[in-house]
Amino acid sequence: MFCQVIIDIVHENVASPFTYRIPDGMELEPGQRVAVPFGRREKEGIVLGLSEDCDLDEARVKDVLRPLEDYAAVPAELMELAGQMAEDAHCPLAETLRLMLPAQMRGGRVRVKTERTARLAVPPEQALAAADSEKRSPKRASLLRILADGAVHPVRELSEEVKDPNWALKKLAADGMILLSDEESLRTPGAVFAQPEDPGFTLTPGQEEALDEILPCLNGRGGRFLLHGVTGSGKTEVFMAAVRKVLSIGKSAVILVPEIALTPQMVAWFRGRFGPVAAVIHSRLSPGERFDEWRRIRRGDARVVIGARSAVFSPVRNLGLIVVDEEHESTYLSDHHPRYDAREVALRRCGNENATLILASATPSILSFAKARRGDYMLLEMPRRVQDRPLPEVEIVDMREELENGNRTVISAALRRALRDCASRGEQAMLLMNRRGYNSFVSCRSCGYVVKCPNCDISMTYHMVSEDGLLRCHYCGHAMQPPVTCPECGGRYIRYFGAGTQKVEEEVRRILPGVTTGRMDYDTTGGKDGHAKILEAFRSGRTRILIGTQMIAKGLDFPRVTLVGVIAADMTLNLPDYRSRERTFQLLTQVAGRAGRGEQPGRVIIQTYKPEDPVIGYAAAQDYRSFFEDELQRRRRGLYPPFTLLARFLTESPKEEAAAAAADRLEREIRALAEAHPAWSRKLLLISNDTPGVKMLRGRSRRHVLMKILVSREADEMIAAMTELARGEFEGTEVWFEVNPTTMM
Ligand code: ADP
Ligand code: ZN
Repeated sequence: MFCQVIIDIVHENVASPFTYRIPDGMELEPGQRVAVPFGRREKEGIVLGLSEDCDLDEARVKDVLRPLEDYAAVPAELMELAGQMAEDAHCPLAETLRLMLPAQMRGGRVRVKTERTARLAVPPEQALAAADSEKRSPKRASLLRILADGAVHPVRELSEEVKDPNWALKKLAADGMILLSDEESLRTPGAVFAQPEDPGFTLTPGQEEALDEILPCLNGRGGRFLLHGVTGSGKTEVFMAAVRKVLSIGKSAVILVPEIALTPQMVAWFRGRFGPVAAVIHSRLSPGERFDEWRRIRRGDARVVIGARSAVFSPVRNLGLIVVDEEHESTYLSDHHPRYDAREVALRRCGNENATLILASATPSILSFAKARRGDYMLLEMPRRVQDRPLPEVEIVDMREELENGNRTVISAALRRALRDCASRGEQAMLLMNRRGYNSFVSCRSCGYVVKCPNCDISMTYHMVSEDGLLRCHYCGHAMQPPVTCPECGGRYIRYFGAGTQKVEEEVRRILPGVTTGRMDYDTTGGKDGHAKILEAFRSGRTRILIGTQMIAKGLDFPRVTLVGVIAADMTLNLPDYRSRERTFQLLTQVAGRAGRGEQPGRVIIQTYKPEDPVIGYAAAQDYRSFFEDELQRRRRGLYPPFTLLARFLTESPKEEAAAAAADRLEREIRALAEAHPAWSRKLLLISNDTPGVKMLRGRSRRHVLMKILVSREADEMIAAMTELARGEFEGTEVWFEVNPTTMM
């Protein structure tokens, strides 16, 4: 017998499988990991297939050294998925196979943990009789009495009841009374499970209707749903009911959540809901714990998995359901190699395995909603909050007027009053100040005018770090001097936006001395439990006002929050990215949804220099539909996804000239490709070749070549050809090719 093995090396020349002989007596199956000789070294690989014979010179075929586990680490369904993903991404199978295993398993960095255990080898009556007649050793007698319950007892546990039991145990084993063995033990984090509980809600009509559609699909060939429900409409309860059904018919479920949602409370709540059949995969697990959770899933002991995007690759048995909660989150896009979109993978997997997919959000991504409209997903809507709680009242404050009234601080008079009221009632508030990165935009404080690129209709970015002090467009590279006076109103208050959360916190402390504040942003959430601690302090009420970046907007349920303030809504709106309108809408709607989730109604204040912007209006009204229609039109006109694919080559080199030369060469090659394929050139819309927003990263100069490719039959061929281009040899320069990158910086 022979087998084809994918070697765990990501390199062009090693991309196809290698054939090995299976020695007599060794049994292997596809998906199993093996150690094989490779060149002069030993390598790990995964068995792709088996065959009776091989068409190579048999004398030169080497033997498999040994299996690494006695089971297939990658089950058949995931082998298939890895193959499809490699094909889609035009990348080696070894690369996508890596996604299917806990990283620590490769190279044997984690091992199965074993524990010494003891159990009875004789009937319990015999053990008890022996204990009674055991006069010489009270230790042996006690051990026999304990073990007479017939269960497997870890020695560690026995030693809590009987001091130093080892010698006595050895004697009992030698006498044939008991068996000692090393059993696999699981490092199940938080090993104490609460009893599964069902909150016993009466479902709302919206929840009923959604479940009427979903539940029948779970038995059969599966369904695809987009669950669009306003914040607080009880979406979680819908998919919990679906999960219960899936478990009751012997299938498994995977629930994907943004990493930020995997707070200790969430983990505890989830365990409480499902008991030991639940596995929770989050970034605070140690490698050993992660591996053990993976094994529980692989063995079928855990049948509900909750985790961040990589949990989509969980080796669950008999998949019945995948839920993607807060599906609009950009964390579902991985930006490491190989890049993938967990929503697309989930869709693929559900199709392969006849499982049901539910994407859920209060603010679905434009791409998902467009798909639902096309009929790819069935749209389920829940427009009301549970118990008919009102949606929060949203007030828009025009910061230009604040300035006219002489208020130059970041907090408007209205928000200041609301904060004081809120504090005096002993309630909690959240303030959002979304400031990402070091770049900011340039705007006139008197009229709200924002400097935009003449070519792209995207706001220009001021580079604090740039030597030339110019404004630059991240899309086309256009550069200009920043204006001294406003080109619109002639005003002299040109502002470089860049104020951060820290400044807001200082201001709040000045306004409300003695009120405790917490701050959550990249600076304060470092460390293992950074953000968990900040959230815990807020949940317990120790901090009254939580100030933070978009981190605070995501799916957190704090019933005592009655006021939400958005310090500068324009901040995300003016980011130089075609998705900034979508992100702003999502952010404002989500953050507004944090208010009034308990008994008290909520109030939301959005501060902006641009109150007339429709995005702000749609968010204030929580009007997703109008926002969607408006945005889709805009994308169609501007030739952005979902109508096109944005693609770019990124080159990086310690030498500026080398990065530039690589980009120039790629541009020539792209043009040559387009000339050779007239059908392609009609679908290839824009080529620019310039420095990206981040010119320099870790001391390396960067360049990029940007393209828009019309969604078409030819698109995939073009992508394949461009992927090939990126694999060329570039002297001292690294080249990446990305389609719809998460960032254009
Ligand atoms: P969403 O995810 O849609 O924003 P959640 O699922 O967080 O909303 O639900 C909001 C709150 O309503 C939660 O505290 C939840 O426990 C509660 N809830 C959900 N369904 C019901 C119901 N049918 N009756 C009463 N309360 C419910
Ligand atoms: Zn531009």
